[in-house]
Amino acid sequence: MSTTAVSAQKLAELDPVIEELGFPRDPDNLYLQTVSTMLQAADIIDLKHRVKIILAQPKNEIMVHFPVRMDDGHHRLFKGYRVQHNNALGPYKGGLRFHHNVHLDDVKSLAFLMTMKCSLVRVPFGGGKGGVKVNPREHSVTEMERVTRRFCSAIMNSIGPEYDIPAPDVGTTAQHMAWFADTYMMSNEGKDANTGLRVVTGKPVEFGGSLGREKATGQGVVDTLVELLPEVGLKVAGMKVSVLGFGNVGSWAARILQDMGAKVIAVADHTGAIRSDSGFDCHALAEHCRIEGGVKGFPGDTITTDEFYQTPVDVMVPAALEQMITSREAQMIKAKVIAEGANAPTTPAGDRILAERGIEVVPAILANAGGVTVSYFEWVQNKTSSYWDIEQVDRELNRHMVMAARRTVLARQKYGVDLRTAAYIAALEHIGKAYSVRGIFP
Ligand code: NAD
Repeated sequence: MSTTAVSAQKLAELDPVIEELGFPRDPDNLYLQTVSTMLQAADIIDLKHRVKIILAQPKNEIMVHFPVRMDDGHHRLFKGYRVQHNNALGPYKGGLRFHHNVHLDDVKSLAFLMTMKCSLVRVPFGGGKGGVKVNPREHSVTEMERVTRRFCSAIMNSIGPEYDIPAPDVGTTAQHMAWFADTYMMSNEGKDANTGLRVVTGKPVEFGGSLGREKATGQGVVDTLVELLPEVGLKVAGMKVSVLGFGNVGSWAARILQDMGAKVIAVADHTGAIRSDSGFDCHALAEHCRIEGGVKGFPGDTITTDEFYQTPVDVMVPAALEQMITSREAQMIKAKVIAEGANAPTTPAGDRILAERGIEVVPAILANAGGVTVSYFEWVQNKTSSYWDIEQVDRELNRHMVMAARRTVLARQKYGVDLRTAAYIAALEHIGKAYSVRGIFP
């Protein structure tokens, strides 16, 4: 029998941990949704109560306010967050998001997902996430540099190369990581320079970054698909794909899939949606987005967002933001498989409908784990003052992704659950074992 995702609302009524920790009962709350899914998986494997309550809340929630001088001389105050969810398996690890809609609950959810993801792909990191409430499109490059440097300085005493290691996420790039690392290193001069360098990953290759990191999350989406698609009778060559969000994750997944013979026929982002039944040149589209800031204006038929969701494809890759596939979109989607490039793009209500409609969902903690995996490789290279060639990075990434996919499929077979629950089970079993041998201090 196949167990499908239970609604957050139903779980809030059922799960004593939700009650015990006094969670808000709002079923639209992202944190409640993500934790509820984990608790459902935890119940299936009888995870110890003490591990459930530890994982249901982050260890540390840091909130800072810091002033930054604008180009015209006036100052603005910004709000930043760093959430350190869990470090049972290694240092906290997770991206920094620069977006006008960053809230504590989102950052908590994303930090929680990092704990699960690192455990599933077996990289020795815990989970963290951070962000600044800022719209990068409203600021000059010099203002964003000062925001990055001042945010680094505001959280500097709470992070570190062996303790909490940020990386890029929505609205941040390798350039932001370079400013961040430089600020950290300049403020810790006198300490070993190599140590400071690995306070962040996702840096430019010229400044301690790893080959293959920029495309890593998209590459991981593709590696996972290649491993799992035969289970549903699909193969990459010739398949039709739609991509929601054409930033780092979406554009790289699209470019790699196209190079492997897939046709990307529909793309949407914050500027609009386009369709081309003969397939887009995704390399040219990525270049267009770099220059124009979005897909709008690229040759193809302009379609509405609803028409984007309704485009018949084999695989849809949501690679934009959270909660974009609600019950409404789930009813419209005409895909056989959804590979979650974004974190938490599907709500529990959306998930239920997709399951009812027989649409297979490859969950985010598996599908998009390639980014943190190559971040780990970058951290190892910095730590050992070594450089891996691209073949080594791709080979090791593929090994981690394939093993994580197999762990997930095994859990699905063993417990008769959907892929999302199975991925959580595979992650929780690993953390559960770490806690049982470590014990709980004191
Ligand atoms: P990005 O900033 O490079 O791109 C974000 C994309 O989302 C852009 O194309 C933007 O236009 C689009 N978008 C934003 N709002 C939208 C809306 N309302 N409708 C449609 N499209 C919208 O970010 P990214 O790094 O590619 O991250 C995308 C997702 O992948 C996020 O959920 C992120 O947490 C997740 N993720 C990123 C990485 C990574 O290595 N960058 C790793 C794992 C997971």
